Amino acid sequence: MNETLRVAVVGSGPAGFYAADALLKSEDPAVAVDVIDRLPTPHGLVRLGVAPDHENIKAVSRVFEKTASRPGFRFFGNVEIGRDISHEDLLRLYDAVVYSVGAQTDRRLGIPGEDLPGSWPATAFVAWYNGHPDFQELEFDLSHERAVVIGNGNVAVDCVRMLALTADELSSTDTTDPAMDAIAAAGLREIVMIGRRGPVQAAFTPPELKELGELAGADVIVDPGDLELDPGSERELAADRDLNRRNVELLREYAARPMEGKPRRIVLRFLTSPVSIVGDGRVEGVEVVRNELVEENGRLAARPVGEPELIPAGIVLRSVGYKGVALPGVPFDEASGTIPNTAGRVEGTERTYAAGWIKRGPSGVIGTNKKDATETVDGLLADARAGLLQSQGGDLGALLDERGASYVEHTGWQAIDSLERAAGEPLGRPRVKLRSWAELLQAGRKT
Ligand code: NAP
Repeated sequence: MNETLRVAVVGSGPAGFYAADALLKSEDPAVAVDVIDRLPTPHGLVRLGVAPDHENIKAVSRVFEKTASRPGFRFFGNVEIGRDISHEDLLRLYDAVVYSVGAQTDRRLGIPGEDLPGSWPATAFVAWYNGHPDFQELEFDLSHERAVVIGNGNVAVDCVRMLALTADELSSTDTTDPAMDAIAAAGLREIVMIGRRGPVQAAFTPPELKELGELAGADVIVDPGDLELDPGSERELAADRDLNRRNVELLREYAARPMEGKPRRIVLRFLTSPVSIVGDGRVEGVEVVRNELVEENGRLAARPVGEPELIPAGIVLRSVGYKGVALPGVPFDEASGTIPNTAGRVEGTERTYAAGWIKRGPSGVIGTNKKDATETVDGLLADARAGLLQSQGGDLGALLDERGASYVEHTGWQAIDSLERAAGEPLGRPRVKLRSWAELLQAGRKT
């Protein structure tokens, strides 16, 4: 093929950048890629999800910037599907469209009191402390003595750790100033993380669990009784599950540790499910019930046993997974929160592909998206070689100009990035993020 294939990648998180990279490396056909994002800034959850004290994980953004420097790459920030441009517009302009928009909301618990003031999805808390411009008006009241974090994944661990960091630990991160001030000044004495299943089934990974035991300002408490395993969990542990074995070892170490009397306590509870979030007008506690594990469809599931117990708490973070959101004009499966697809080829529409969490659901680490995006791109390029991809032509920039929609190009992002880094430098922080749409657009928009 001689003609350059023109592909739009919608969503500039890890899946979008890995897809763009795989496309730009193709020689037959050669590909030009426009990466579109509704935010003025690229990198998705690497900028706005990864915890600010995990700067080493954020270093992957250098790989993304290398992709952005390849010939044929363009960035269009502040462009929203359904507002500035439609799926049909993209199909007209581009030979193929890849959706890599991630999972933009939270899974619900479906219990009474879930929406009481003071009960928050962890996704909102994470977006707030990371400077996401849509979440800066939120006010998290951290003046209470106890917080409860529901869920046993790495996002729950991130929330617990962020709530427990000292002012000193926060000071070298890019946590937003309001979040730093609120966390450092919080009245919190205890952060309780509850998992509905046992320690062997916890979804968090050993490095993240280990960090909890290394915090300057918080003791970790585990009830040794929670670590007495039922026969099913013993079998799971004996099977080849290294990660879980390491988790259980660390938890045993924590259970045997004497308290050091640090200002905050992190209590890790297992086999405990929330049944309701209670309070008069705002959160005052979480009613929980003890579970046992029963085999169900080849998996150990939690079943309640015993009477409910109240854990008094002034704030609750619900961290039971992210969920994808439908895009106008693009097929969507409500139950799984994903775009229905076969190996990345979207079902029921032409020349449309999916990659990352919107393709497979919210699982895996950043690197998981490389293999995922490569699979999608392999299918797309095969379709191109088979002559199945053909647009009508036209240019996104020209169409947006025509519609009076202003956008942030890659040079605009570089301007935002430089400003933020320069503000962080004298403070010994990687950056001080611009947090409002107005500031971001002013710094990033073409004049
Ligand atoms: P996750 O790993 O899927 O964990 C979700 C947790 O919620 C599980 O413990 C699950 O328990 C629990 N849960 C689900 N429904 C529940 C209910 N109704 N009641 C009580 N608990 C419930 O999701 P995540 O923490 O949002 O993380 C998303 C992905 O990002 C994961 O792959 C994660 O590893 C990754 N991540 C990685 C890092 C890192 O590498 N540092 C940091 C953050 C996120 P069950 O197992 O019983 O369903």
